Amino acid sequence: MKLLKPYFVKTPRLVQHFFSDYSWRVHTKKKEIYLTFDDGPVPDFTPWVLETLKKYDAKATFFCVGENIQKYPGIYEQVLRDHHSVGNHTFNHLQGWKTSTAKYVKNILKAESYLQEAGDNQRLKLFRPPHGRIKPKQARALRKKGYKIIMWDVLSGDFDQRLSKESCLEHTIKHIESGSIVVFHDSVKSFKNLDYVLPRVLEHFSEKGYSFRPL
Ligand SMILES: [Zn+2]
Repeated sequence: MKLLKPYFVKTPRLVQHFFSDYSWRVHTKKKEIYLTFDDGPVPDFTPWVLETLKKYDAKATFFCVGENIQKYPGIYEQVLRDHHSVGNHTFNHLQGWKTSTAKYVKNILKAESYLQEAGDNQRLKLFRPPHGRIKPKQARALRKKGYKIIMWDVLSGDFDQRLSKESCLEHTIKHIESGSIVVFHDSVKSFKNLDYVLPRVLEHFSEKGYSFRPL
C-alpha cells in the first residue's frame, strides 16, 4: 500500500504558474539539475554532503539557518570554499504564516548578517521560506530588499520518517528533469534517507549526462 503524503513531491505546474513570482525551477534546455540543502550548516551531515557532492563534481545551493552559521562558522566557510551557492533560511527557522511581516523581515536580516561573506562571489540574494510558507506581503518586502524567493520543483521527502529510503529514491529520480530545483536537508532527521538517496541520485543523473549547478 502506498502512503498518502501530506505534501506534493512534484509541485504542480498550476501552483508554479499561480505563484509565478517565486522560482520553482530553472528554465533551461540544458541537462542541468539544481540540488538544494536546507537547515544547515551542522556538524557531520553538512561535511558529508560536501564530500559526496565533490565525488561527482556537483555544485549545489545551501539554504542556511543563521543560528547554525553562528554556531558552526567553520562548516559554513567550507560550503563557500567549495564554491556552492548559499541562501537565507531565516535566523532560527521561523515560520512566515505565524509571524508578523516586520518580525519576519527583521529575523531574515539578522540571518543575512551571518551570510554576508557570500556577497563577494555570488550575485543573487536567495531566500527560501521555512516549510515553504510565506505571506505575499512578506515576499514583497523581501523582494524590495533584493531577495529572489526560491521554492522547488521536487521535494525529496528525505525528512519523512515514514518513507522508506527506497521509495524516497524512486520518486525523487522519477520527478527530476532538466532545470528541476530539488529539496534535500542537511540535518539529522533526514540522514536516514539522504545517506542512501543522495549518492544514487548523483550517480544516476551523472551517467545520463546531467550536471549539478548552483543557483
Ligand atoms: Zn527548513
